[in-house]
Amino acid sequence: MESALFIVATPIGNLADISQRALDVLAEVELVAAEDTRHSRQLLQHYAISTPMVAYHEHSDERTPGQILSLLEQGGAVALVSDAGTPLISDPGFRLVRQVQEAGFKVVPVPGACAAIAALSASGLATNEFLFAGFLPAKGSQRETRLRELASYRGTLVFYEAPHRVADTLADMVNVLGAAREAVLAREVTKAFETIRRGSLAELEAFVAADANQRRGEIVLLVAGAEKVVSELDTPTATLLQQLAEEMPPKRAAAIVAEFSGLRKKQLYDYLLAQKGS
Ligand code: SAM
Repeated sequence: MESALFIVATPIGNLADISQRALDVLAEVELVAAEDTRHSRQLLQHYAISTPMVAYHEHSDERTPGQILSLLEQGGAVALVSDAGTPLISDPGFRLVRQVQEAGFKVVPVPGACAAIAALSASGLATNEFLFAGFLPAKGSQRETRLRELASYRGTLVFYEAPHRVADTLADMVNVLGAAREAVLAREVTKAFETIRRGSLAELEAFVAADANQRRGEIVLLVAGAEKVVSELDTPTATLLQQLAEEMPPKRAAAIVAEFSGLRKKQLYDYLLAQKGS
């Protein structure tokens, strides 16, 4: 086996979702660096793999990276796994990959499950362009700000969300992105209670409120991209723009609002034109 750090994807629920290549690599490397060794040990045991393991997380001290680098220096091979899915995707490993590359060693991906991609592929939302936004901030005000930043993005938005926050997040999405925006709740993907539910944000908010089970387990939230210019503006921005446009030419109003909001002048101008025509 070549000397490298292998980034090995593991299942996100269904233990069969692992490639033969991933199993071969995990069995053949000298060391498996895992986010949680107890958790990953169960996976390795399931496949009768007894490779030694070491804990690696983003706050690991330098001992683990040091151990990995010295193994690579000796011509050895190391695998990195996380608790589930693809390492580095909302999971530890970024720092390690950089360290290994900077020390002149190879980093090799061994692809497989990723909750964001699995959910997207079965969501029924557009897949030609999407933005993986990871976890939204836990605090309500910061979450709203982040949603506002993403509100006018045209592709599908993909978020990871904790079950105890999903109701609040959907409520914020209704407020910021609009009740009618299409979205998907993808819960427990590849597991026994897999749920992939598409509807408007308001429908999903009601669905989650009505059934406590929908607030359990692991969740990916996907939101359709902004379609019409009209739906891209939050209420305060739209109101300010319209009031200014009553006092001055629409181009000037759009320029002023663009400066304070960070939105594109053209987008704001088009919004005013659309309002006029509607
Ligand atoms: N690296 C992982 C991947 O490739 O998907 C993601 C790790 S991140 C720390 C964990 C989050 O991923 C969960 O909180 C949930 O939002 C999402 N997730 C993981 N497994 C999932 C599943 N089976 N169904 C739905 N979402 C899942």
